Amino acid sequence: MNNIPQSLKEIRSAIAEGSLSCERLVDLYLQNIEEQKNLNVFISLFDSEARERASVIDEKIKKGTSGKLAGAVITVKDVISVKDRLLTCGSKMLSNFTTVYSATVIERLLDEDAIIIGKVNCDEFAMGSSNENSFFGPVKNPVDLTRVPGGSSGASAVSVAANMCLMSLGSETGGSIRQPASFCGITGLKATYGRISRFGLVAFASSFDSIGIFGNNNYDIGLLLEVIAGHDGRDSTSSETDVAIYSVLSENKLDPEKTSIGFAKEYFEEGLDEDIKNGVLAKIETLRIRGFKIKEISLPHTKYVIQTYYILTSAEASSNLSRFDGVRYGYRSADSATLEEMYVNSRSEGFGEEVKRRIMLGTYVLSAGYYDAYYRKAQKVRRLIMNDFENAFKEVDFIISPTTPNTAFRLGEKIDDPLSMYLNDIYTASVNLAGIPAISVPSGKDRNGLPFGIQVMGRKFDEEGLLKIWNELK
Ligand code: GLN
Repeated sequence: MNNIPQSLKEIRSAIAEGSLSCERLVDLYLQNIEEQKNLNVFISLFDSEARERASVIDEKIKKGTSGKLAGAVITVKDVISVKDRLLTCGSKMLSNFTTVYSATVIERLLDEDAIIIGKVNCDEFAMGSSNENSFFGPVKNPVDLTRVPGGSSGASAVSVAANMCLMSLGSETGGSIRQPASFCGITGLKATYGRISRFGLVAFASSFDSIGIFGNNNYDIGLLLEVIAGHDGRDSTSSETDVAIYSVLSENKLDPEKTSIGFAKEYFEEGLDEDIKNGVLAKIETLRIRGFKIKEISLPHTKYVIQTYYILTSAEASSNLSRFDGVRYGYRSADSATLEEMYVNSRSEGFGEEVKRRIMLGTYVLSAGYYDAYYRKAQKVRRLIMNDFENAFKEVDFIISPTTPNTAFRLGEKIDDPLSMYLNDIYTASVNLAGIPAISVPSGKDRNGLPFGIQVMGRKFDEEGLLKIWNELK
């Protein structure tokens, strides 16, 4: 495996010294990708295009005309559109589907001279916590090949952890960036809902979905964020809030005396692995010793998070995925006698088990007889969960917790037990219900040497604070 610098600053200085070029960098990553094919990370590899772009960017660097992301080689979860490329969503349904436009985030990062090296595997339509629900097969955790990398953006996390790229774009509906970041020992940021345009991100649950970033450090993640964030007229839910220079600001220290950090007792109760619990509590103690104000808080509706999350996201998914009917996009079943049969067969054959489970659950909770009992009720509970956070952020600036209740589990271990799989989202899904930002920072290893993350949640649009607090946790 090639040892490639794991920060953009180091890459840039190697380029400036002449010991590295973008072309050479792309070749080194391509070798790492080739050598670690067994991890099953890539769905589409853009090898020749990445090489060509690298030589163009090398010229720009020489002339002093290169963009902010020159030297950054990036992978993209295959639920985000890159023009003229496959957009599979990890599904048989879209396994041959080529998209005709690029997502806003892709346009923005290409404008700043990032190099996209390929599109990577994920759980089908971003539904899952293990990256085992992919038509293209499961992804493996580079720390232990018998274990899952987490999901749904599992391969995005692996591509960074296994040095196949510098950073990756993933997506979140309920923890799909933070949980795999935790399982693979890297940093993952989920921004405030609306901070990053969703135009060109295939919808799973539109009121939850957000694009986010995997990386090795806060400066790199901040830089990518400042490039892709900001209002986009093509996404009516994207925010007009100003975008900060997150990269530079991330290097400033927080003033401990003026910073209060809460920990919710509900996040340290039964089901939490002892090693993770002790690791996170030890970090909290370190923060206290440094002078941060630490306060116990309560998020009383935490016990309803998983139920509420799965009712609402499945409802939205059942509606969003109705467009895949064999007529307009992707897979169509052959030899159906009637139109109705063609719809049914295309969807039955094109979708995997987990996607069908969610469509059925979502259709059920939206049906006339059950709408009030489930969907409307869950909307009300969502409001209560949001209120919990609004109240907490009146008392503290950040909330700290474990990212996940356990470290990476074994491949196959939870695949037949959806409920235990869903419980992996226990500490992450509340953030998406509330629309707030959160970061997972590597925080230690358990007794088996498996990494785990610490999660920090912040006020809406305080990505800057989350990137700063990274300095205290690394
Ligand atoms: N694991 C969660 C789910 O299966 C989260 C998925 C996501 O964030 N995309 O829904």
